[in-house]
Amino acid sequence: MERSKQFVINLRDQKADKAEYGWTVDDDFFRQVGATEVQRGLVEVTLTVRRTSGAFELTFGLKGHVVLPCDHCMEDMQQPIEAEQTLKVKLGDQYDDDGELVTVAYADGTLDVAWHLYEMIALEIPLRHVHAECDGED
Ligand SMILES: [Zn+2]
Repeated sequence: MERSKQFVINLRDQKADKAEYGWTVDDDFFRQVGATEVQRGLVEVTLTVRRTSGAFELTFGLKGHVVLPCDHCMEDMQQPIEAEQTLKVKLGDQYDDDGELVTVAYADGTLDVAWHLYEMIALEIPLRHVHAECDGED
């Protein structure tokens, strides 16, 4: 699967205290990350990277929708996605991700946020998702 470089953030070389990124992720994005839970959607993403002492705070703003099968009738439905989530990242000896803090190897200095972004979108999907007219049907 070809991976896009567009979600690679260069942290080590970020000179400013704050950097901003923006993307629109669509069906191609979900295909490229190899997502299973979500395969279609359209989400506007903003990313603000704030440099603090020795670490980076990445704030993702998500707004859009994903297309999922309705739990009741199995037809496609649009699940709205609107959220803000943060990710803490620091530079260190080697790559690590303990779920709370991501460590990026200093030698590399970059982080591909595509999968993190996907996980944040997937996290916003309610356990039960149904069409408004299917709600309360089962
Ligand atoms: Zn339905």
